[in-house]
Amino acid sequence: MKALVIAEHGDAARELCAGARTLADEVVLVTLGETPEGVSDKTVVVTVPEGAVADDAAATVVAVFDAEQPQVVLAEPTRHVKSIVGRVAAHADAAVITDASAITADGAESLYFGGVGERVQKAVGAVAFYTAAPGTFAEAVPSGAGVVEEAAWVAPAKPLRLKSSRVREKGGADLFKADVVVAAGRGFTEESQLDWARDLADKLGGGLACSRPLTEGVDWMPQSTYVGVSGLMLTPKVYVACGISGQMQHMVGCNRSGAVFAINKDKNAPVFKQCDYGLVGDIADVLPALTAAL
Ligand SMILES: Cc1cc2nc3c(=O)[nH]c(=O)nc-3n(C[C@H](O)[C@H](O)[C@H](O)COP(=O)(O)OP(=O)(O)OC[C@H]3O[C@@H](n4cnc5c(N)ncnc54)[C@H](O)[C@@H]3O)c2cc1C
Repeated sequence: MKALVIAEHGDAARELCAGARTLADEVVLVTLGETPEGVSDKTVVVTVPEGAVADDAAATVVAVFDAEQPQVVLAEPTRHVKSIVGRVAAHADAAVITDASAITADGAESLYFGGVGERVQKAVGAVAFYTAAPGTFAEAVPSGAGVVEEAAWVAPAKPLRLKSSRVREKGGADLFKADVVVAAGRGFTEESQLDWARDLADKLGGGLACSRPLTEGVDWMPQSTYVGVSGLMLTPKVYVACGISGQMQHMVGCNRSGAVFAINKDKNAPVFKQCDYGLVGDIADVLPALTAAL
């Protein structure tokens, strides 16, 4: 069996190739960015030409897919790669099983209804397509001689046109890699109060994340830092939810953490039923005191 991995970040490529190795004898990696060594039997590098957008690499990846004829495709769940794998799957007359948290020959486990239920899905066609969350194959070990080829760019029939772009402020630490994530919610009533959470994150050597209202509601944090069903699915060793009520759309993005700590002034907040350690208190008192004590 042959597996095709589509990824743009080195860590994800490494993990997905390792996972692909548990499902298939031959692993081919298609990269749109970083190209790790020794993780696949063959690596095909797709370079997006100046002026093109990464999503337009779909036509090129389709050409690689046709040439390689894999039976399983694993894709990194980034915006670009999700757009690309969807189009490759459509080309193959298949659907993509998304946000898998475990994949075996028996099927893929994932959450649904915003994390209320778990399900196992199995592809019935000739090719199974999955996007897999980070950590899905954390235990697997990558291998491969790693022949590297450059893909010939296939211009799409209807390309997207990049009108403008600008650099946005980065969210600090890489939240996927951070051992500790401190997340701020709507319990923070002024942007300046985020320093309480930022200081704690710095003290713990972790990253600062948030609930969705802090990005889309007030725009205090970059959109790339909100956790939950429509944001990041994180698995740090420690997750500290501060002033977050514990709605399932948020908790589904952190409930696979090693330990969840919650700080909330409402002792009846739902987050206290979903954490390992809960502290009833006002973030204005607790966070500075905690940081000072640490
Ligand atoms: C389709 C859909 C998808 C969604 N996807 C996501 C998602 O991916 N991620 C996400 O986060 N949300 C998502 N949401 C929104 C989600 O349902 C919740 O509305 C959101 O998570 C609530 O954010 P919060 O906990 O910060 O705010 P709130 O629910 O308003 O909770 C704030 C909490 O802070 C506490 N608090 C207030 N003041 C203090 C204080 N001084 N000290 C301590 N505690 C205090 C309050 O007691 C309260 O529990 C989604 C919603 C929908 C409908």
